[in-house]
This record gives sequence, C-alpha cells and structure tokens, in this order.
Amino acid sequence: MTDKPRFHVVDGTKAPDTPAEEVRKRVRAMPKPATMVQCHRCGGREVIETKIGVLMKNGKPTGGTKALICVGCLLKGERVTL
Ligand SMILES: [Zn+2]
Repeated sequence: MTDKPRFHVVDGTKAPDTPAEEVRKRVRAMPKPATMVQCHRCGGREVIETKIGVLMKNGKPTGGTKALICVGCLLKGERVTL
C-alpha cells in the first residue's frame, strides 16, 4: 500500500513578482489611514456640518446634502466647503 502524495504543484498561478511588487501589492491592500479634516484655505480643523436642500415632510426635515464648512473661514464671511 502506497501513500498518496500529500503535496502537489498547482498549475496556473504565475510565479511571485519582484519583492518590490510584492510590497506594492501589500500596501494597496491596506485600508487608507484616517486623516484629520483641515481647511485648505486657513488650515483650521474646526468644521460645521450643514445641509443643503432639506425637505420638510410631515413636520420632519428629511433628505438634503450634507456639507462640511470651515468655521474659521465662515467667521470671516467666507464659505469654504471641505
Ligand atoms: Zn478655513
């Protein structure tokens, strides 16, 4: 009685690429790191969330598009969306 071979080579998969490409593949698979929201005009990090186009339905505000606006710029009379 002979043992069955435990391992066998699977055809169809190409050989691993260069080490650099392996690193790139790994980095691409990683989730994007969280970054803090910062105003591109004044550099402020304080924001207000606003809603544009909200519908009043049965006495309740529904829908609308959210937008982040820089507080620092808003105080200067400028509307900078982030
Ligand atoms: Zn700003």
